[in-house]
Amino acid sequence: MIQNCLNEIYACMGIEKEVSAYGHGILQKLEPRFREIDEIAEYNQLKVIKAMQESQVSEACLLGTTGYGYNDLGRDKLEEVYAGIFRTEDALVRPQITCGTHALALALMSNLRPGDELLSPVGKPYDTLEEVIGIRPSRGSLAEYGITYRQVDLLSDGSFDYEGIRQALNERTRLVTIQRSKGYQTRPTLSVSRIGELISFVKSIQPDVICMVDNCYGEFVETREPAEVGADMVVGSLIKNPGGGLAPIGGYIAGTRDCVANAAFRLTSPGLGREVGASLGVLKDFYQGLFLAPTVTAAALKGAVFAANLYEPLGFSVVPDSQESRHDIIQAVTFGNADSVIAFCQGIQASAPVDSHVIPEPWDMPGYDAKVIMAAGAFVSGSSIELSADGPIKPPYAVYFQGGLTWQHAKFGILKSLQSLVNKGLVGKDRLKL
Ligand SMILES: *Cc1c(COP(=O)(O)O)cnc(C)c1O
Repeated sequence: MIQNCLNEIYACMGIEKEVSAYGHGILQKLEPRFREIDEIAEYNQLKVIKAMQESQVSEACLLGTTGYGYNDLGRDKLEEVYAGIFRTEDALVRPQITCGTHALALALMSNLRPGDELLSPVGKPYDTLEEVIGIRPSRGSLAEYGITYRQVDLLSDGSFDYEGIRQALNERTRLVTIQRSKGYQTRPTLSVSRIGELISFVKSIQPDVICMVDNCYGEFVETREPAEVGADMVVGSLIKNPGGGLAPIGGYIAGTRDCVANAAFRLTSPGLGREVGASLGVLKDFYQGLFLAPTVTAAALKGAVFAANLYEPLGFSVVPDSQESRHDIIQAVTFGNADSVIAFCQGIQASAPVDSHVIPEPWDMPGYDAKVIMAAGAFVSGSSIELSADGPIKPPYAVYFQGGLTWQHAKFGILKSLQSLVNKGLVGKDRLKL
């Protein structure tokens, strides 16, 4: 009975029976994977509730302040809750931190001083950090303040270049930045356990160096977070995993008391620090989004696993592949031609709750050397915990996609992307055989 209803509504939403049958056949094999994802979500859900209970979050915490924001109970409690979840001494969680890049820039600029050196032992950091660091010359970069940068790339098999890292560490090295997610690169994402090995190695040589983890897209994917394996600072965006799709803005820095204090005095002003910064009306969404974040992250992960398993048998290369364990929510699919990248993104867009009638096209974007097509029909502009995709129109013609506030939406979006490829004759229906 319900099966008939489902078939009917998929058909009426433009998914042909061949596409639907192929997708549902793939899904049957994924039950054990999904069970594991649900168990991690269950653990993390309880972790979040426990932290909220221990901090005695109350109804009054959901209200905000205005003006200077002195004595903002809800803001201060939320920071305590984040510290509980990320297992750190302290945390700064603010709507005044405008995005992930800002959170990372703030963490770096507040904890480095002129003459210090920053080291990335995991290769090139996320694109936007190139300008923060000054890898690409930029106004206000760390380089302008006399902070130098060194980088050690991963070895060709994806492992750490321990010898190179040993040589790069020196008496000026003050901070080591470790990006958990591959972002838009092809290297593997780092598991929390691998991050732990790297931090132990760095600290065995220089115990006092600050180890920072760019945690974007990684929160709640595993049961542990990077501070549990020695990170001094863990940094991310609230319009990705930890905002649960409800946070309309914001970033967080969780870490040692010293690191967080430095960040607070830089975010507002020396002398003022964390005491100012009104939360306005966002606290309820910050709390409720954090509460939902473990299950929202699980929904996004299921979507990523489904997509890998759907596209891999059709002959497209997928990173991570259909079997690999997951450490972030990003999925890459390489199509090898521009038309397929465009069709995929148009399919994702057509599945959205907002702006589904809009047809995305490739366009020139600042900071990119090729046209880029982006699909996003989001409640929060630019939110990438919501189902979204983007693809640079250049070889190898890959799309990167992530998110989905519910598994059901992620699944529909992925079926719609395949349908879009079928509609344009880019995937033949005869290939949709299990
Ligand atoms: C998204 C992301 C950032 C930057 O966050 P924005 O909110 O886009 O500024 C930094 N690092 C990684 C790994 C990311 O995924």
